[in-house]
Amino acid sequence: TWSAVPAGPPDPILGVTEAFKADKDSRKINLGVGAYRDEHGKPYVLSSVKKAEESLTAAQPDKEYLPITGLPGFTQNAAKLAYGAESKPLVENSIAVTQSISGTGALRIGGAFLGRFYPHAKAIYLPVPSWGNHTPIFRDSGLENAPEKSIVLLHACAHNPTGVDPTQEQWREISDILKEKKLFPFFDMAYQGFASGSTSRDAFAVRHFVSEGHQIALSQSFAKNMGLYGERVGAFSLTTVDPEEKARVDSQLKIVIRPMYSNPPVHGARIANTILSSPELYAQWESEVKGMADRIISMREKLYDTLVGLQTPGQWGHIKSQIGMFSFTGLTQPQTKALADKAHIYMTADGRISMAGLNSSNIEYFAESVSKAVKG
Ligand code: PMP
Repeated sequence: TWSAVPAGPPDPILGVTEAFKADKDSRKINLGVGAYRDEHGKPYVLSSVKKAEESLTAAQPDKEYLPITGLPGFTQNAAKLAYGAESKPLVENSIAVTQSISGTGALRIGGAFLGRFYPHAKAIYLPVPSWGNHTPIFRDSGLENAPEKSIVLLHACAHNPTGVDPTQEQWREISDILKEKKLFPFFDMAYQGFASGSTSRDAFAVRHFVSEGHQIALSQSFAKNMGLYGERVGAFSLTTVDPEEKARVDSQLKIVIRPMYSNPPVHGARIANTILSSPELYAQWESEVKGMADRIISMREKLYDTLVGLQTPGQWGHIKSQIGMFSFTGLTQPQTKALADKAHIYMTADGRISMAGLNSSNIEYFAESVSKAVKG
């Protein structure tokens, strides 16, 4: 039956982890996947998450299905986190929001909804470069890459893979241009809090566009900022003009979602909601997000200093000026290949590294290996 099925290529990002796992060298480093690691290189479960889970365990909630659009408290709190408590459409109850299977699921729901109901274009502009999964997500949603009157996908903060974000001034300009050309902004916010350490500062672009009167689509992920990767917690929302329009949009979101996966998983949304609705856990969470962001910044400084100290040819200032989890190093494909083959260091072929994979035990070995690879 499947004799005609061709073997597909490995995923360009998750394939890096497979190569890493197969390497038996003790010095090996995985800088491919965008998952935070603590200073010992270990996966990190936030204390606020542990506390939320403890209180959930004590409460012994049932395992009933959630509604199609997810846990209502969670989606309201997620919208509040992104848009801000004072946001006009939020206060006026005109944001249609649904829980999603993390950020990927939110993008996919958004793609499906826009493909069905955005009558003006069947096209979406993606940044070049962008997160590798954006192209297949929107291709599978029936949206094409085409020249004009399009939906524009914007990374709300901590652009992946470059780590280069527009300044607030540049965001204002981008907002004006989109308005002038009547383009539709679709924000992908996968790293709120990770860019600056402040969740509200990182929401600047989203909030500015909304305050300027743009209708927006928004994908949110709680994978990175709450460390809830495998729990798959996210939200997709659309701002609408009034509660009546919101209700119509809500009804169609349900119709889009029901045949895709019926309803979302409950546990991770409960964790996120427990944190977002408890002032104490919220404060602790914010300081933990800042802690992760700060550790990454300190690794940027250390890496820069070491590369420069080793008189590595080239300019390395971007390592420090880039923002968020990733650094777009500028390493070439042959250099990244040499690093994998000779130094057991794994990153995506475009030279992107997850800064979170570096720590005080491996950063010198990494910098020395990079320096060697660049010197040839
Ligand atoms: N958008 C961007 C830009 C990302 O970097 C990621 C995660 N790598 C996502 C969306 C979605 O990730 P998830 O589905 O794990 O939330």
